[in-house]
Amino acid sequence: MPELPEVQTIVSDLEVIVAKKIFDIRVFWDKTVDNISVHSLVKKVKNKTIEKVSRRAKYIIIELDSGAYLVFHLRMSGQLIFLEKDNLKYKHIRLEISFDDSSKLIFNEMRKFGRTYYFDRSSDLNSFFSNRVGKEPLEISDEEFIKLLESRGGIIKAALLRQDLICGLGNIYVDESLYLAGILPTNLCRDLSQDKLKKLNNVIKTVLKKAIGLRGTSMRDYLDVTGNAGKYKEILNVYGRQGKECRKCHSKIKKSESALEELIFARGVKPDIVF
Ligand SMILES: [Zn+2]
Repeated sequence: MPELPEVQTIVSDLEVIVAKKIFDIRVFWDKTVDNISVHSLVKKVKNKTIEKVSRRAKYIIIELDSGAYLVFHLRMSGQLIFLEKDNLKYKHIRLEISFDDSSKLIFNEMRKFGRTYYFDRSSDLNSFFSNRVGKEPLEISDEEFIKLLESRGGIIKAALLRQDLICGLGNIYVDESLYLAGILPTNLCRDLSQDKLKKLNNVIKTVLKKAIGLRGTSMRDYLDVTGNAGKYKEILNVYGRQGKECRKCHSKIKKSESALEELIFARGVKPDIVF
């Protein structure tokens, strides 16, 4: 699933659609559109111009000149691809925005989990986010990070996956950050010292910035808006490397999903992942 660095890469590249006017929007899978009818969506966005593209958590926010917002969540395997002209390579197009210069933005997704939202005003957008997403990991201070985690029940990995605490992280960057901070995913939050948590907060920032620099991690489906893969995969330490040698101590990397599940179950703490 695309996480913060992948979404940020897409958002930066989508600078290319700023100032373009929407000529038409076509929806090929109605459920892609979440909080508005397809009919109203088409009516409301036709002939509007793109003002700005930004990110909050794993959401891509497209601001229109009417003051409204189109929001995309890629979920598992969604791809937002910008096309100068038609391209027959993409087979699972759920939604297509065509601009008046005949370029297009397509929402391609094999698994149909991805969603598009529409908000008339910033206040609607803000209330949508307020009960879904927590602090941005690139902005959270050490004090806030420690306060959120130090007295929590449950294991650190589950806490870091909760989008309503700290948003934008998923399995890839949680695993990589914990490894680099020298913390086991199954360590209990409350057993981690303030120094350890402070270190973790800094490692997460470093990992995310490096991943943004390398344009994300492409494991299976993630592609940037021009259809290219990210390069962070080449420097992954643990995620997707079970059975391979640890880059630090050369022992074999083991996956401990059962231990993780057991712990979550035993403590009654659900990761409660909000996509
Ligand atoms: Zn090792």
